[in-house]
Amino acid sequence: MRVLLTRHLADLDHAALLADIGLAGYDSAAGVPTIYPQGTLADGSEGETARRAITAYRVVRDSQVAKAVKELHDHHCQVCGLRLQTSNGGYSEAAHIRGLGAPHHGPDRLTNLLCLCPNHHVLFDTFTIYIDRDGIVRGAADGSPISELRYHARHRIDPEHVSYHRQLCGQDV
Ligand SMILES: [Zn+2]
Repeated sequence: MRVLLTRHLADLDHAALLADIGLAGYDSAAGVPTIYPQGTLADGSEGETARRAITAYRVVRDSQVAKAVKELHDHHCQVCGLRLQTSNGGYSEAAHIRGLGAPHHGPDRLTNLLCLCPNHHVLFDTFTIYIDRDGIVRGAADGSPISELRYHARHRIDPEHVSYHRQLCGQDV
């Protein structure tokens, strides 16, 4: 898919093309953008009933688990360790490993989240970097190592979600 889009169909609007052929969301690890109505999934539970697709380019309000992952890591990026300091305090982004949106339908749970800086969030969502079986973050183009994923004792990451993302990066297939 990545080769097809980037090498042979580089001039096209990938999101629109994929939507036309019934593969909407496959151009991004996040999938088709979704939003959670305020108050749902506050307990971290998952379910289709809380999922509501809208036309938007970012999730406008963090879920409780998204807030939790940022607090656990105190806004330090799990790839590079950066903690962006803003006038409003630390800033980081909660990245779903298996995207919430279609077609990925990942769960909004701590085990499916990473705390990332904006740069590494973009690289992760665009399948530019992936996490290998040993927790090494690598560039998808040539497998070159970038860093060792930083873990937190109270933040378990489900290896199945990591494997899902890795396969979308063309690894392990
Ligand atoms: Zn980073």
